[in-house]
Amino acid sequence: MVIRLWGGDPASVAEKRSKDGKDQENIHHPYAWFASTLVSLLALTLGHTGDHIFGLLPLMASIANGAGGTIEDIEDPRAQRQGDVDVDPLEIYGPLGTRAYVRAGLTYTYTLLGAPYVVHELRFPTDPPDGDHTELPRHTSELPSGRNIPQVGGVWKDIFKDDLVSVSAAPILHSVPCVGYVIQEAPIPGKMEPRNYIPNIKRTKTPMSVMSRLQQGESVELSDGTVLHGPPRRPGRKIVILGDTYDPSVAADIACSPDLLVHEATNAHLPGIDPTTKPTDTFESVEARAKSRGHSTPQMAAAFATQIGARRLVLNHFSPKYPGNDDVNAEARTTMEAIADLARKQFTGEIICARDLMTIEVNLPQQNTNP
Ligand SMILES: [Zn+2]
Repeated sequence: MVIRLWGGDPASVAEKRSKDGKDQENIHHPYAWFASTLVSLLALTLGHTGDHIFGLLPLMASIANGAGGTIEDIEDPRAQRQGDVDVDPLEIYGPLGTRAYVRAGLTYTYTLLGAPYVVHELRFPTDPPDGDHTELPRHTSELPSGRNIPQVGGVWKDIFKDDLVSVSAAPILHSVPCVGYVIQEAPIPGKMEPRNYIPNIKRTKTPMSVMSRLQQGESVELSDGTVLHGPPRRPGRKIVILGDTYDPSVAADIACSPDLLVHEATNAHLPGIDPTTKPTDTFESVEARAKSRGHSTPQMAAAFATQIGARRLVLNHFSPKYPGNDDVNAEARTTMEAIADLARKQFTGEIICARDLMTIEVNLPQQNTNP
């Protein structure tokens, strides 16, 4: 399975898709993610700040073939209700207000979509538990099955689950309600070592098809009484994507031991590199300022990565004052390396500074084969 992450400004992602005609991945901002190779799930980290939500509608229009309708008397098939259309809906998860935002945006721009969508809202304890939070009637493409998901034990567990992945979420502290997501791949078949099985299978003239049962972790008894045990299943990969935050500790339990943590690092103290550094600035004053705006420094992100036992850390959501095109710009490269160096003080694993449209592969941890 491929786990793909998408993020950044969704409008630029949509534009990239339409230009290339194929999917691109990007995790500069913790805006959104898609699990599996199909675009079917989209999770919003914040409901109320523009840098994380403005591009949602163009992205939806790009994915679902939206358009502004047809001239009079010509019926646009997209204007029909799509509740019974045999197409997987685009599923959107976000805090209270996400449904109203999407509905209003589509309605007031007369946008029709070629596929249905549904919005599930993660309700905080202070939110109303029910209702759509908008007076507008449901959009023609919106399915009525959107859930209002309450917290249980302070988190939203398994807001989505299928055979491949499960997704949970937790509130994280920021200046507005904000959410972090945990994507857990289901356990996967263990690694087969054919030489452990083939001689016994051949000797007892057992059909080779038992290999597929063994691969699934089953035990198989051969005609002479020998029992072969398939390799035990291995844990799947785990990815944690946090939204803007100065304290994500509520997410620590469900986020433990991820293969990849995406954590913002908006502000950094970079004397000699960042020309806007004031003579009075210190690591402490920069951290205090970042926290007062609901954000983190590289050291704070790295400390959380260490706390939850992350294998790799991706820093993102850098202040716009830092040049971000470090693949082509030496000044940007110096800045991003300095930001990674600050994180290295608190985290010994691999550190990556994200950039728009960057692709990061999350491989399975190396494991020994079954003896
Ligand atoms: Zn932001």
